Amino acid sequence: MVKVNPLDVALKQVDIAAKHLRLDPGLIEKTKQTKRELIVHFPVKMEDGTVKVFTGYRVQHNVTRGPGKGGIRYHPDVNLDEVRALAMWMTWKAAVVNIPFGGAKGGVQCDPKSMSLGELESMTRRFTWEIASLIGPDQDIPAPDVYTNPQVMAWIMDTYSILKGYTVHGVVTGKPLELGGSLGRFEATGKGVFITAQEATRYLNIPIEGARVVVQGCGNVGGIAAQYFDKAGAKVIAISDSKSGVYNRKGLNTSEVLDCKKRYSCLITPEAKAGEEITNEELIELDCDILVPSALENQITRENAPRIKAKIIAEGANGPTTPEADEILYDRGIFVVPDILANAGGVTVSYFEWVQNLQELLWNEEEISERLTRILTRSFAEVLNISRREKVDMRTAALILGIGRVVEATKLRGIYP
Ligand code: NAD
Repeated sequence: MVKVNPLDVALKQVDIAAKHLRLDPGLIEKTKQTKRELIVHFPVKMEDGTVKVFTGYRVQHNVTRGPGKGGIRYHPDVNLDEVRALAMWMTWKAAVVNIPFGGAKGGVQCDPKSMSLGELESMTRRFTWEIASLIGPDQDIPAPDVYTNPQVMAWIMDTYSILKGYTVHGVVTGKPLELGGSLGRFEATGKGVFITAQEATRYLNIPIEGARVVVQGCGNVGGIAAQYFDKAGAKVIAISDSKSGVYNRKGLNTSEVLDCKKRYSCLITPEAKAGEEITNEELIELDCDILVPSALENQITRENAPRIKAKIIAEGANGPTTPEADEILYDRGIFVVPDILANAGGVTVSYFEWVQNLQELLWNEEEISERLTRILTRSFAEVLNISRREKVDMRTAALILGIGRVVEATKLRGIYP
């Protein structure tokens, strides 16, 4: 697969949307630049007695509409351009769902699968210390992303709180419930993918009952989304992890497959043959109604876009589709619910968690679910209206809405001095 720089993708998307916004070139330039970037190299004592130096990043793309917000990723491929692109997508995402956050992102270049829990904790605590001047409930609020989870958020919260001398719940979201986490946050992104995909099926008159769904990635986003599709009566026919996927034309037993992954770290065991093994490349091209890429960037490109058979693509992952692929998919009539709308359930419930932390109160599950559904269905309708009015795909429509709101906020605040 050709390597694509996610930052090039993010910048090209801005150019495409900017044509419809008729903006001052200076303001377009501002939207393309990140506000602050911190690169840190820091040592960690490993369990074999050696010292290993890691490189980490925290990037704030834009804080015009509110504090920076965005996950922290642990992955060997994490690099500055990827973090910049992910931070930029966070800015547009928060604006699309109209919550008062800016966009940020962070990551550490590491292989978390080869590290012990103790090493992960040490690395997380030292990284938190290194970026502590940038983060905080009023400045920039991290959350989980690829290969980070509520436990990692708990270590960040604890380290930051020790540094301050008192407990600061609002410094991260996606925390465990016992430490100021919110009900519904763990499920929020996957649930949001389901809600927005369901809106797309309603628009296209595709019954969700019996719809064939293919999910790439079975982590927080993919795993939860698959369960929501399953519960709604759709048929999850394939799901994958970083190694490979499992496919069953008649439909998988989703909970059995996910349970197998949890217990044995693989999707198929020789005893319980849920279906046939397929590669991630084959999975993307399967004949289905809804394709849900929920792993990494650059999965749908100009090479495989002509062979995609899905009617709807609901992007759980950030940046899974390149602009060249977008053009091909649009021409072929494939309806894409873009990342900055489809996976915005995560940042939305993160916002609820932050609000609850600041106000020191707790909302119940029904309140959270009802508010999340309302925000996502309203945002879907707004994006769809723009897409029909401007005769553009859903991604460009979402960018027109998101970038438009950020630029409007910039104009209202004015350029200092
Ligand atoms: P996760 O760590 O929980 O799961 C990642 C999944 O991707 C795993 O199942 C892993 O096996 C799979 N994977 C890794 N490399 C792969 C590869 N090369 N090919 C196929 N599958 C691969 O991470 P997550 O939180 O589910 O995040 C997945 C995507 O969703 C990312 O793009 C992330 O930025 C995006 N996202 C996450 C959230 C959130 O709240 N966690 C919110 C919005 C967007």
